[in-house]
Amino acid sequence: MLLPVQCVFCGTRCFADEGRICNGCLVDLPWHERLTEPGPAPLAVIAAPLEYAFPVDAALKAFKFHRRLEYGPAFAELLCRVIQELPGDIDSLLPMPLHWRRQAMRGYNQAHELVRVLHKQSDLPVLASVGRVRATPYQSGLDAAARRQNLRNAFKASAAIESGHVLIIDDVITTGESCRRLARVALNAGAGKVSALAVART
Ligand SMILES: [Zn+2]
Repeated sequence: MLLPVQCVFCGTRCFADEGRICNGCLVDLPWHERLTEPGPAPLAVIAAPLEYAFPVDAALKAFKFHRRLEYGPAFAELLCRVIQELPGDIDSLLPMPLHWRRQAMRGYNQAHELVRVLHKQSDLPVLASVGRVRATPYQSGLDAAARRQNLRNAFKASAAIESGHVLIIDDVITTGESCRRLARVALNAGAGKVSALAVART
C-alpha cells in the first residue's frame, strides 16, 4: 500500500495529481518570470524555475546540509516539468560533481539525488565521467576573483563525452562560475553544447 504523500512545505496531504508539493504551496513559490536566459559563455542556456528566496532557500539548505532528502524528489518533479521547455536537442544529464571526500562526509550528492529522478522520468542518460578532483572550499562568502581561483582545475573528465547537448544539473546557481568551469571540461571532452539547469538561481 502506498503511504499518502505529504507536501514538503506545509505537511498537508497531497492529492494524487499534485506530486510532493501541494498546489497551494506551488503557486506561492518565488517563481522566476523567465525560466531560461542565454548562458554566460561557454554555456548555451542557463535555466532555473525558482528564485533563491524563502521558502526555497531554507528548503535547499536543509536538503543539502541536513539530510532532508525528501526535498530531492519534490524539486526533481518540478525540474521534470520545466525540462520540456528547454532546448529539444538536450541528450544527457550531468550532475554537478561533489568531491569524493565531501560526498563521503555528507553521505550523498544533492545533484545526484535530483538527477536520479530526472533520469527515470525523462530517460535521458546520465554522464558519470566527469569528477571533482579538488576539494574546493565552499564558494559562499568568496568574491568573484576568489571563486575563480578556487575553481581552477576543479573538474576532470575521465572519458570522452559523446553528447550533442549536455545539461548540467545543480541545486542552486549563484554566479554560475562552477557551471561554466564544468561546461568547459565537458566541451573539451567532446560535448557539442552545454547548458545548466538548477532548482533556484540567486
Ligand atoms: Zn503545501
